[in-house]
Amino acid sequence: MIEITKFALSYKKIKMYRTHSNGELRLTNVGQEVTLVGWVQKTRDKGFMMWVDLRDRYGITQLIFDEDRTPKEMMEKAKTLGREFVIQVKGEVIERVSRNSNISTGDIEILVKELTILNKSLVPPFTIEDETDGGDELRMKYRYLDIRRNPVRENLIFRHKVAIEVRKYLSDKDFIEVETPVLIKSTPEGARDFVVPSRMNAGQFYALPQSPQTFKQLLMVGGLDKYFQIVKCFRDEDLRADRQPEFTQIDCEMAFVEQEDVLNTFEGLTRHLLKEINGVEVADFPRMTYDEAMKKYGNDKPDIRFGMEFGELNEVAKHKEFSVFNNAELVVGIAVPGGNSYTRKEIDKLIEWIKRPQVGALGMVYSRCNDDGTFKSSVDKFYDEADLAKWAEITGAKAGDLICVLSGNTDKVRTQLSALRMELATRLGLRKPNEFAPLWVVDFPLLEWDEESKRFHAMHHPFTSPKPEDMHLLDTDPGKVRANAYDMVLNGNEIGGGSIRIHDKATQALMFDHLGFTPEEAKDQFGFLMNAFEYGAPPHGGLAFGLDRLVAILGGQETIRDFIAFPKNNSGRDVMIDAPSKIDETQLKELNLKLDLKL
Ligand code: ASP
Repeated sequence: MIEITKFALSYKKIKMYRTHSNGELRLTNVGQEVTLVGWVQKTRDKGFMMWVDLRDRYGITQLIFDEDRTPKEMMEKAKTLGREFVIQVKGEVIERVSRNSNISTGDIEILVKELTILNKSLVPPFTIEDETDGGDELRMKYRYLDIRRNPVRENLIFRHKVAIEVRKYLSDKDFIEVETPVLIKSTPEGARDFVVPSRMNAGQFYALPQSPQTFKQLLMVGGLDKYFQIVKCFRDEDLRADRQPEFTQIDCEMAFVEQEDVLNTFEGLTRHLLKEINGVEVADFPRMTYDEAMKKYGNDKPDIRFGMEFGELNEVAKHKEFSVFNNAELVVGIAVPGGNSYTRKEIDKLIEWIKRPQVGALGMVYSRCNDDGTFKSSVDKFYDEADLAKWAEITGAKAGDLICVLSGNTDKVRTQLSALRMELATRLGLRKPNEFAPLWVVDFPLLEWDEESKRFHAMHHPFTSPKPEDMHLLDTDPGKVRANAYDMVLNGNEIGGGSIRIHDKATQALMFDHLGFTPEEAKDQFGFLMNAFEYGAPPHGGLAFGLDRLVAILGGQETIRDFIAFPKNNSGRDVMIDAPSKIDETQLKELNLKLDLKL
């Protein structure tokens, strides 16, 4: 009892910076003496009266300085205030004459009696408003000012909420969050590593993890059974728009599971997030094989919020007089809803669009589906009404639609038509940010041929288990072997991917052999894992979600950078702290490094 009183007394003595936040006061507070702190959003000076909008993370409260009621020296101090000054005010909550229904505190204002300037501010280089006049580079250089803006702050809070829900869901399901090391060993497989020179081991380097893959597998050998970690990963890849050299994964692994168990668990997590964060109940969670996704959508991460599925036309379009189709490996089309309304000029523009080097199609054949049930195609010379009716049937085109047809090498043409499908869907407004259509793509190929190195690479990673029923093809037709690997796709984005792992030394050694490792190389780089497999490694599998992308999609936006507090720019630079940067001679020497740059 005595203790509590003592605490209460000392607590009272603490000088409080504020009694309320700037989003808090209402009519019910009128008459109260309050203390507020925050940043000056804007000032309006009428001479004898002055208003200041005071902002903090929680909102804006209007302050009023009035010649008759505010002490003179405070009035004078108020005149010196500039944008983004940090101030503290004491005053009385009064009812506002002209109310502002746009803000939560719009019914009241604070009649200021005392003003303290806690810190001054230079004039910010861009406006701290929802719609700012600052360009990207400037906003990044002064990211701490950008974070004061509502949309950026809200995105960071949104990300926090998603992370909390992930932790809640997985912890409830007995997953344990374990931290794995950041200074690890470099391996040539996968993307390029970021490396860190070791001062104490001259000439030797650590690498930053591209993912905690081997560690989470070792945790399964360690008997932890269910692991997760919200973890930074690093990949030194050539930067594409909206890719970050450091990014965050929700990394997960489970022991004693088959593919079905993993899919069900993380379907559950996704459902939970969509429900808690977006208030959306997902009815269907379809599964599609990789082959089916490629055939129907030309893509292993199909956006299934809308139709426009591919119709393969080889059967009905080849073996006529049209040599372009006859010489093609694949003739394939999509029906564009309402596309018959496009003018000739608009269609020509579309053809130009797919001929751009980024898409690379050689041309496009089309057929209009008229309202009276007739067709009019760009290849009327070779195809009659009956032929075109078959095209319509196969692509699912209805009266009023436009059938777009591409032809050529199967892989290329699928990629090109997929690009066209996504572009048209965007133009038609079919990719609604508030609609969510997740699915699993399963049965990925185990290996993928790389033209450059003229050898097979692991499509997912070298620890992925081949499907036992396909193992016999490893020697004869390696490209045909399917893996127990899966991706979760949401609205045309791969948001997660994983696999059932190899858990015995012999299969892992066989896999390394197929990937072109000598037994010595395999031992040198992954000996620790293969050794662990000899000490009772349980069957296991898992996956990792990309948190940055997931958060952006749940937030109904496209750019991940908007959901990262301090992102790097498109050349991988942090323009605020100016990194990467040179290090000085002494540091280099300590690290036993000599630079020989021919710049
Ligand atoms: N480590 C993998 C990745 O980063 C995910 C997994 O297989 O669990 O893509």
